Amino acid sequence: MVHNFNAGPSILPKSVFEEAAQAILNYNNSGLSILELGHRTPTFQAVMDEAQALLKELMHLDSDHEVLFLHGGASTQFMQVPMNLLDDKETAAYSDTGVWSSKAIKEAKLFGKVEMVCSGKESNYTSIPKDFAVPNDAKYFHITTNNTIYGSQWHKIPTTSNVLVADMSSDILSREMDFNAFGLIYAGAQKNIGAAGVNVVVVNKNILGKVKRAIPTIMDYRNHIKDGSMLNTPPVFAVYVCMLTLRWLKAQGGVAAIEKINDQKAALLYKEIDNNPLFKGTIATEDRSKMNVCFVMTDPALEESFLKFSKERGIVGIKGHRLSGGFRASLYNALPLNSVAFLVDTMQEFTKMHD
Ligand SMILES: *Cc1c(COP(=O)(O)O)cnc(C)c1O
Repeated sequence: MVHNFNAGPSILPKSVFEEAAQAILNYNNSGLSILELGHRTPTFQAVMDEAQALLKELMHLDSDHEVLFLHGGASTQFMQVPMNLLDDKETAAYSDTGVWSSKAIKEAKLFGKVEMVCSGKESNYTSIPKDFAVPNDAKYFHITTNNTIYGSQWHKIPTTSNVLVADMSSDILSREMDFNAFGLIYAGAQKNIGAAGVNVVVVNKNILGKVKRAIPTIMDYRNHIKDGSMLNTPPVFAVYVCMLTLRWLKAQGGVAAIEKINDQKAALLYKEIDNNPLFKGTIATEDRSKMNVCFVMTDPALEESFLKFSKERGIVGIKGHRLSGGFRASLYNALPLNSVAFLVDTMQEFTKMHD
């Protein structure tokens, strides 16, 4: 048995793999594969409609918020957001909490002014900045709710009068939140929603249409809203896998129910990291991510050997990002509690061998 802690693309529910595999061979007994259906057919339209409806339901979205399934991954949103929301003489506020927010800042600078209101850089991104002010005239304030590479997370979403924009790629649907408080949310699907190749955008339609620049057709959110996320051929299979994963999440009891399990998973692993003398966490306790748990060994010389030991036991994907080193265990929604228990057991077994 394999325990998959990959950071992304990452584990999805087993039932989703089985249904998706069947749909490739024969979708709903139609004699056709999901891969050969026209995207404008009623059959695929039903998939898109259900995926959008499920996301609205699971996030409790109001009627101002539209759900889009777009191409290009979260990285495309780094530029599509400022292109749609920021004029070149205007300012957007950004928080810098890690690699992904730095990348978002770089792209925003191509479209307008960026004020970096806080940065965790000096502490090597080991905590979430607390004391900062967002200028009133900033068109929007951008945060990365979960920092996938460093393993930190905003546990308290800042309250601001500005339009709030969030990259939620690695923690969307993992915890309850007032999603309607956001002007725009984006997330690459490959971490918590489905298969790579599609990107979820939730946007309050009232914030659109305010910039003066000409926006290329395919980049303008309003066109995607108007065409129901079918402006051009959507990534049909990736949308289908999202739909299945969202169905699964609803069947688990929705976001509130999965959050309880996510809390248990994170608590179990952090407890071992804190209690086991061989391991230690890398992030300020109050800012630790419940999705990406980063840790190192007190004796770095043992890291290679722990990695090998866990690999032999079927643990996959715990090697840390090259920037932060050590280990990173990603505990996305689909990862079962027993995989975390198995990782903890592996840490304990390893410790016994090195006493
Ligand atoms: C993975 C990730 C991205 C990049 O996503 P792509 O779909 O590969 O562009 C951006 N932001 C965060 C927070 C991520 O975890």
